[in-house]
Amino acid sequence: MRLSLLMLPKLIKIGNSLENVEEELEKLSLGNKALIVHGKTQTCKIAEKIKRVMGDYKVIEACVEKVSPQTVSTLQKVVKENNIDFCLAVGGGTSIDAAKYTAYESKKPLVVFPTAPSHDGIASPNVSLKGWMKPYSLVATPPIAVLYHLPTLANAPYELVRAGVGDALAKYTASRDLLLALDTHKCEEDASYEDLRAVAYEHFITSAKIVTKEIERFREEGWEDVSSWLGTDSYKTFVSNLFFALFSSGLGMAKINSSVGASGSEHNIAHALQCNNRKHGEKVALASIPMLYLQQSCLNEDKIFGMDWKTIREHLSCLGLPTTVKELSIKDSEMVNAVLKGLQIGKMRKRYTILDFYAEKEKLNESSVYSILKETKLI
Ligand SMILES: [Zn+2]
Repeated sequence: MRLSLLMLPKLIKIGNSLENVEEELEKLSLGNKALIVHGKTQTCKIAEKIKRVMGDYKVIEACVEKVSPQTVSTLQKVVKENNIDFCLAVGGGTSIDAAKYTAYESKKPLVVFPTAPSHDGIASPNVSLKGWMKPYSLVATPPIAVLYHLPTLANAPYELVRAGVGDALAKYTASRDLLLALDTHKCEEDASYEDLRAVAYEHFITSAKIVTKEIERFREEGWEDVSSWLGTDSYKTFVSNLFFALFSSGLGMAKINSSVGASGSEHNIAHALQCNNRKHGEKVALASIPMLYLQQSCLNEDKIFGMDWKTIREHLSCLGLPTTVKELSIKDSEMVNAVLKGLQIGKMRKRYTILDFYAEKEKLNESSVYSILKETKLI
């Protein structure tokens, strides 16, 4: 399929006032019955505010805590029984995933109002699943529109913002994995070689580079610590650019109808980690350090798209993201097992990565993984 024939999400800027949400929704002509899917506490309050400004709409609200098969089937029932015209996700990962899958199964359009720039699934067709027998994601349809409201995003808890940084920086290793698979003829994607390569450069690598530039700016500005930076104009610019980087990555996934290039070996390792109390972006960021190291050493490249494992480690650390297994509160052995399991998850997902490349040439076992993690200072 040619990329130009695909329906891609539209980015709509809301401006400072939430009052504009209704007008923007009306322009989309989706009908007047909406199901707002939101999370607990903070996103619930934001959803309430949005509901209040949607005066001409009949709105039903649903609060979700996880993306389980039961949640989705309950939401589908609500859509059917109330003749819902469209779903509106208000929140971060869980509400967006639950609404995305519900909209897909119910064949209804989806609009997303993200409340935090915490991952790149906002505009993508992918849904992250937990407890569905598969520890990874499936492809649904992307939202038709994403509503961008900077005051809300800049107000998100910092731990969500830095998780978004981790997910964006993981595109270095994920894209290198994709190019490796393409160059060794081991890529099993439907999209063409040219399209995959173009999307990797235009969306995924660009996304990682935008965020890298923002981190460099943060470091150059010489803030004493992260807490003195929060809420400043510099921070708002950072959040805004982070959001656009994550949106662009999601758009890339929508173009190729796959997360390949945005989710590689580092994501496979993160999926294997059991610490579900930690954010997705924290786990993929940590896993990207040894994967970048492996790519540099196995492929004989000083840098991977201009990045190296030591620099990414410094960048993650200065924003308070974990760079050691201890900081993620897991045991050394859990990380070793996650890397080994990451290879298997990659095979299940039919994604050739640097772990396969390494395993073909050297022995990928407990002892070699232990050495890699030690070398990159994770343990
Ligand atoms: Zn991700």
